[in-house]
Amino acid sequence: MTEATGGFMPPIISSFQKKEKDTPALSELSERDKPWDKHRANSDVIGDYYADSEFRQYSERIGDCSQFLDFKLTPNAETGAYKLKLSSARFCHVRHCAVCQWRRSLMWKAKAYKILP
Ligand SMILES: [Zn+2]
Repeated sequence: MTEATGGFMPPIISSFQKKEKDTPALSELSERDKPWDKHRANSDVIGDYYADSEFRQYSERIGDCSQFLDFKLTPNAETGAYKLKLSSARFCHVRHCAVCQWRRSLMWKAKAYKILP
């Protein structure tokens, strides 16, 4: 996304749960954010495993994880081009949730790059 829409942006949901016609899927708006859909689909598989076990509450938490992602358009300081940046979301923090583990891996990757010269 390189231009600001300059107006109201509807909430974004992942494409696999696309239910309303007016709500755009994240992968439709931002090519860069396509991994969300893949990891969210993997979380659903993990949630199904938990659903039939004594850890049913984990299945419910994973089901609610990252359902609504709030992105904001932020300008690049150098080029002035706008891109989507995650501003708020609700995550489940279940150890085996694919979305949460993917985000955790991104955090550790960023920390590793930060200390490298
Ligand atoms: Zn999660």
